[in-house]
Amino acid sequence: MIDPAEREAIARARDAVLARIAAAARRADREPRDVELVAVSKTVPPERVRAGIAAGLTVLGENRVQEAEAKRPLAAGARWHLVGPLQSNKARLAVETFDVIETIDSLELAARVGRIAVELRRAPLAVLFQVNVDADPAKSGWDPGALEAALPALVGIDGLRLDGLMTVGRQVAAADEARPTFRALRDLSERLRAADPRLGPALSMGMTDDFEVAVEEGASHVRVGRALFGERR
Ligand SMILES: *Cc1c(COP(=O)(O)O)cnc(C)c1O
Repeated sequence: MIDPAEREAIARARDAVLARIAAAARRADREPRDVELVAVSKTVPPERVRAGIAAGLTVLGENRVQEAEAKRPLAAGARWHLVGPLQSNKARLAVETFDVIETIDSLELAARVGRIAVELRRAPLAVLFQVNVDADPAKSGWDPGALEAALPALVGIDGLRLDGLMTVGRQVAAADEARPTFRALRDLSERLRAADPRLGPALSMGMTDDFEVAVEEGASHVRVGRALFGERR
């Protein structure tokens, strides 16, 4: 059962987020439709996720493979992005569960996911490379130089569609402090794509506290949880 009041509340939150994305896009001379809203539903109960889909959310993000596996059957029609770290022993389940894996952070993981995608006839599976732009020891992701060095091997892996890059910004007191991180990811994307255009242009960056700055800096995907579903418990 979908609670109509819950659906209405999420629809209003979605409209507000989309309006903010559109305003930020226009400030940067971009088209609002070039920014995709990934609704991060981690910890949100399945019934509320269904209300969110009924409210018009079409792309969902989860950071745990098993949580998404449990929710996915209840949420037909949505596309699912993995936005949390992927352990190699969960790679098979992740390939079965997600439409996009945003958190590929090593050559070994990329090769494994590609192999499984071919085997399960999910190829080419869309992936992003997560970059640890700020060299934050608490975060996973590629060191930018290491990603650049690995790119020739990465583009040779079968079964993957290399859509682009993703980053998780530092916790900042003010949204504008996240700008250098987002700008650095965009610069890295441009440099890598100049070396090999088989890497796509997607830039997944920006969350509830800083998605407008990310859009101004070129985000193609923003990953928004709390502004849509409310504070997490
Ligand atoms: C939780 C999470 C988000 C969403 O964060 P909010 O602050 O709720 O918008 C985005 N990206 C990743 C990787 C996350 O883990």
